[in-house]
Amino acid sequence: MTGYKDWFEAHSIKHKKIMDKLTNLSDDEVIEYFRFDNMVQNEPDFCPLYKEPKKCHDIKELNCYFCACPNFRLTPQKSFCDIESINGGSIKAKDGFIHQDCSKCSVPHKEVYIKKKFDRDWKNAMKFVMKDAN
Ligand code: SF4
Repeated sequence: MTGYKDWFEAHSIKHKKIMDKLTNLSDDEVIEYFRFDNMVQNEPDFCPLYKEPKKCHDIKELNCYFCACPNFRLTPQKSFCDIESINGGSIKAKDGFIHQDCSKCSVPHKEVYIKKKFDRDWKNAMKFVMKDAN
């Protein structure tokens, strides 16, 4: 799963760059800044979908602070959802690796969830995602 690991590292750098600009904002204001419409306007390079622009999940108030999800877990054999979200799924690849499918789950994109898990240090909020990856 080097693809995910590489993406994770690159994304954490992009996230930190934005957070370094927002030091004067309160936590609630930071979360508002990460709303999809604002991000499309002010952070066009944060997500490739902003160019169209297109939402990754079709929900009205999509928030991008937790791209990706703190509940996602990666091990050498599989990825899975730590809370067993009813909207999550799994796909078995040809090589046997089982991929967590989050395409129908909007848990991390809702502000009520983001407020619960909020940490200005994105990597710290995501610290359990790859704890068993190696
Ligand atoms: S997006 Fe949903 S299914 Fe995927 S890891 Fe997070 S909570 Fe679980």
